[in-house]
Amino acid sequence: MQDKMLSSRAKEIKPSPTLAIDSKAKAMKAQGIDVISFGVGEPDFDTPENIKEAAIKAIRDGFTKYTPVGGTDKLKDAIIGKLEKDNGLKYERAEILVSCGAKHSLYNTMQALLDPGDEVLIPAPYWVSYPEQATLAGAKPVFIKTLEADRFLLDPAAFEKGITGKTKALILNSPSNPTGFSYGREALARIAQIAVERGIYVISDEIYEKLLYDGAEHVSIASLGEEIKKRTIVINGVSKAYSMTGWRIGYAAGPAPLIKAMTSMQSQSTSNPTSIAQAAAIEALNGPQDSVKAMAAQFDKRRRFIVDGLNAIPGIKCVPPTGAFYAFPNTSALYGRSPEISSSSKLAMYLLEKANVAVVPGDAFGDDDFIRLSYATGIGEIEKGLERIKKALAAF
Ligand SMILES: *Cc1c(COP(=O)(O)O)cnc(C)c1O
Repeated sequence: MQDKMLSSRAKEIKPSPTLAIDSKAKAMKAQGIDVISFGVGEPDFDTPENIKEAAIKAIRDGFTKYTPVGGTDKLKDAIIGKLEKDNGLKYERAEILVSCGAKHSLYNTMQALLDPGDEVLIPAPYWVSYPEQATLAGAKPVFIKTLEADRFLLDPAAFEKGITGKTKALILNSPSNPTGFSYGREALARIAQIAVERGIYVISDEIYEKLLYDGAEHVSIASLGEEIKKRTIVINGVSKAYSMTGWRIGYAAGPAPLIKAMTSMQSQSTSNPTSIAQAAAIEALNGPQDSVKAMAAQFDKRRRFIVDGLNAIPGIKCVPPTGAFYAFPNTSALYGRSPEISSSSKLAMYLLEKANVAVVPGDAFGDDDFIRLSYATGIGEIEKGLERIKKALAAF
C-alpha cells in the first residue's frame, strides 16, 4: 500500500536522525523525569517587549489580511536598510523575498535554483535541512569534509576539487550550526574568487550573524564585490537574533530574476508570511537593538562556562566556538572505551538514559566524532547537566 501511496520524493526524505533521541527525551519528560536538554536549537529568551507590542498593535489596527506575497514594502525596506547598515549591501525591493522563516527562504531558493542532476556542495558538518532540501529539489548533495583543526571552515582547495561540470551551488553557513565557527573576510574572499571563476552560486545562510564572540566580526560573502554579489543568495531572518523562532519571518536577498521565480513559487504554496509577524519584524529591524546585545552577552557567558565544563570532562575536547549558541565537542576519544558509547548516537542515547541529559549526536550533522550541545539554556541548568555527564562518563 505505502509503496503506491507515497511519491518518490516523499520516500527519499529521511526522517530527522535526531528524532529517536528527541522523542525519547520527550517521553521521559512526560513520565516526570527531570531531563536536562542541550538539544534545542532556539534561544530561551522571550521575544523583546517592543516587538510583541508591535504585533499587538497590528492586530488592534486590523492589519490581519493578506499582504503582498513577498512581504510588505515597509518590511522589505526595513530589510534593505538592515542589509545596507549591517552588511554594506545594496538591494532593491525586487531583490528581496520575505518568507515563513529562513528555512522557507532556503527551501524557495533551492526550488528556484536547482534542477534534477545538479550538484550542491555542502561543507560537513552541516545543518540537517540543507541536504534534504537539495534532495527535494531533485539535486544531489555533495559533502566536503571540514576539519576541527581548521575550525570546520571550508578549505578553498577542497572546494575547488569538489566542483564538477554539474556543480550549481555551494551552501555556506556562517556563523555555523552545528560547529559555532564563522568565516573571516580573507577566507571568504578566496571562496568568492573560486565561485566567480567557476560560475558557482553561493547560498549564504547568515541567520546567526548577531551571535558572535571574542571580537569575531560578521562578513557577508555577497559584500566582497559586485561579481560575487550577483551569484549569492543571502539568507537571514529574525528567529535567532530577536528570539522570534515562533513568528516565522525569514528573508532572501539575491538576483531579481531568481527572487521573482521564488516569489511565484511562494504565491502558489504559502502566500505571504503572517501579516502581524511582518509588523513585528519591522519593529525588530528598525527598533532599538539593545536586547540583541543583551542576549548575545548572556550567550557569551554561557559559552565560556560550557566550554570550560566540557573540557574538564576526561575524553571530551571542545575548541571554543566563536558564534551561534552551540558547543561541538570532539567525543571520539570515548568511543573505544565501551560498546555502550562507541558512536555519537550511542553516546547520546547513553547520556539520555544514564544521565538524563539530551544532546544531539554529530552523525546527524555528518560527523560522528562530535556531539552538539546547545547552550540556549540557563547557567544553572548547564552546570547541572555537565555534572551529570561527568558522573555518567566516570564509569569508563
Ligand atoms: C534556525 C536556523 C535556520 C532557520 O531559522 P527560521 O526559524 O526558519 O528562520 C536556518 N539556518 C540555520 C543554520 C538555523 O540554525
